[in-house]
Amino acid sequence: MANFPSVFEAKEEILEIGRRMYQKGFVAANDGNISCKIAPDVILTTPTGVSKGFMDQDMIVKMTLDGEILSGDSKYKPSSEVKMHIRAYKENPEIMAVTHAHPPVATSFAIAGIGLDQPILTEAIMGLGSIPIAKYATPGTNEVPDSIAPFCRDYNAVLLANHGALTWGSSLMQAFYRLESVEYYATIMMYTGNIIGKANPLSCEQIAPLLETRAKLGIHGGGVPACAVQTTNDKDVIPASGPIGGCQCGGDKSKTIYGGNAEAAQPAPQPASSEIDHLVDQVTREILEKLR
Ligand SMILES: [Zn+2]
Repeated sequence: MANFPSVFEAKEEILEIGRRMYQKGFVAANDGNISCKIAPDVILTTPTGVSKGFMDQDMIVKMTLDGEILSGDSKYKPSSEVKMHIRAYKENPEIMAVTHAHPPVATSFAIAGIGLDQPILTEAIMGLGSIPIAKYATPGTNEVPDSIAPFCRDYNAVLLANHGALTWGSSLMQAFYRLESVEYYATIMMYTGNIIGKANPLSCEQIAPLLETRAKLGIHGGGVPACAVQTTNDKDVIPASGPIGGCQCGGDKSKTIYGGNAEAAQPAPQPASSEIDHLVDQVTREILEKLR
């Protein structure tokens, strides 16, 4: 028997998650929606047309999974996007809460059609798995719930093509933490893939224990990202010692090659033999380091 939160507790958490979503920039204006089950076929959900950062308890809508509104101020209606929440609850009875937002990095991957499936981040593999992208669906139509339905049992989150992200969990907080994790994972993929331009993928050998940990945490869905055959991150990376190409002055300006004054810049004097020895030592050390 599932453990349902009280209406008061659930509303308080929905308000808190709405504030965090808004503060983190996961939603603009009145975007996003949050819901949770309070009985096997009854949910609480956020209203349409209201900023999720500034809600109060009276705005929260109570409704059945058949779409019947049970209470709440009649001026507050659920979003048309609640259809995808309801579909998630129907597809997977273990889902107790759902969050939806438009976090900018994850949404950009959804627009680019690139799923979050790189084997690069231990926490993402343990807590999330891989994140597929549901095909494009016109907002407000039944195509939207149909598009996410295939993923509700085997994954913990899904990106919506050219739209945003949807996450679910066994509690409101778990669903929201997954939303945060999706955006964090997407940000790391952007930094490594598109800004730094390089990442060491985790090998199959390294991913196996992470999947065991995920199972021990009771997370049964999530998908498995592809792994690398070869391990590439099993050596320490020690930054080169000393400022190669720097002043070689050890902080003493009087020993700089060009001096500190641009007007008085003179052709570089030959470095003293001790400086040459120092340079030779340094270059040798660098080469040995690389050969190791
Ligand atoms: Zn949306």
